[in-house]
Amino acid sequence: MQIPDIIIAVDGYSSTGKSTFAKRIASEFSFLYLDSGAMYRAVTLYAIEHGIISPSGEIDRQALCRALPALDIHFEDTGNGSRTYIGDKCVEKDIRTLAVSDKVSLIAAVPEVRNFIDDRLREFGRKKRVVMDGRDIGTTVFPDAELKIFMTADPVVRARRRADEMKRKGEKADIQEVAKNLRERDFIDSHREVSPLTKADDAIVLDNSDMTIEDQMKWIRQIISDRFSYVRV
Ligand code: C5P
Repeated sequence: MQIPDIIIAVDGYSSTGKSTFAKRIASEFSFLYLDSGAMYRAVTLYAIEHGIISPSGEIDRQALCRALPALDIHFEDTGNGSRTYIGDKCVEKDIRTLAVSDKVSLIAAVPEVRNFIDDRLREFGRKKRVVMDGRDIGTTVFPDAELKIFMTADPVVRARRRADEMKRKGEKADIQEVAKNLRERDFIDSHREVSPLTKADDAIVLDNSDMTIEDQMKWIRQIISDRFSYVRV
């Protein structure tokens, strides 16, 4: 299957299945998949572990800004998907906990954190053939992305999906707590001053409440075929 060198931005609300969808797109079209949320989660984990954010959510912004330049967040491909690292430590599991989810939107609202991560994401996108998921990829990181998807789904469906995912990974997941976290993150993400979560004017909305991943792939294949003269080889 051939598709031109483009950037695909997949934005949307928390737990709408952005990463599952983006990973499938990447695998089908031989694109690089990048999880921008993992970078915000890694900065948050670091901030929690170093007392830069307090349990009540107060941020020592100066300490955070001092730490950022030396923070080596990167991805390594283990052959079984990409894993997030801080330096030489794999933090893939640690960044997905509710403790990190609980604080990540506060850290992600800090402008210096956003600049730091945006610069890295743009580096990854230089060679195109990238599908990146997040909240502001189509609006801020790559406003010229050739294809922008904005994902949404029923909040109850989203909470159930996230709780199931956490349980599969062996984490405790109380559905009410998960739902509350999703509501809070969506609120903070949509109302922050810098790069709030919002649909880009030229993004196509995908509500996948009642769609399987196969339905979603069928949907995207059609769009790619219509827009980019997708050719099956
Ligand atoms: O995608 P994920 O749910 O892992 O993202 C975690 C958090 O990181 C989001 O709730 C949001 O606060 C932040 N984020 C962001 N901009 C992005 C990606 C994630 O602000 N592009």
